[in-house]
Amino acid sequence: MVQVQTFVFNPFSENTYLLHDETGEAIIIDPGCYDRSELNELVAYVDAHSLKPVQIVNTHAHIDHVLGVAALKRKYGIPFALHKLEEPVLKAVKSYASNYGFSTFEEPEIDTFIREGETIEFGNTSLKIIFVPGHAPGHVAFVSDADKLVIGGDVLFRMSIGRTDLPGGDHATLLRSIREQLFTLPDDYQVYAGHMEPTTIGFEKKHNPFFK
Ligand SMILES: [Zn+2]
Ligand SMILES: [Zn+2]
Repeated sequence: MVQVQTFVFNPFSENTYLLHDETGEAIIIDPGCYDRSELNELVAYVDAHSLKPVQIVNTHAHIDHVLGVAALKRKYGIPFALHKLEEPVLKAVKSYASNYGFSTFEEPEIDTFIREGETIEFGNTSLKIIFVPGHAPGHVAFVSDADKLVIGGDVLFRMSIGRTDLPGGDHATLLRSIREQLFTLPDDYQVYAGHMEPTTIGFEKKHNPFFK
């Protein structure tokens, strides 16, 4: 049984997720912690629950989702995994970080490339990787069938969808990803998005204005 802990970090109000199960092993998804106090908030949770982070893995590599990667890699000595098509997206962050006020952004090294169809394993938990491009070219989402949830990044939001005006974005591709990859999941699956509160597949199929 996986526990999803949400932290809201940086001025973009980005959701950083820490997933852990009964074994105490944990993974960190999209760490957006930027300053010392945000980093400390995550570390304090890990310490308080005696967790052992084993990996950092990202849905995609926009700045708001990668601000904490380098610091957490160093803190826990753990690898960072990303889809190959997000490598250029990550490499571009340096060039625009200071425009958003993140002058001390440190580019993390990628340790492993993940692919759709593979799984992310930690403790007793297995997450299926699905490919959902459109908001970003190598965007993936992580699905737990045992826990009926998806960590979806910036693809599908409660009553909204991800923006597609950034480099590598494409509106038609995003709609197709949602229709073919997310809306084929069962209605009762919880969707933990990169911003804002969680939703469910069933709620969005019914109420999302982009799919009327
Ligand atoms: Zn994004
Ligand atoms: Zn975002």
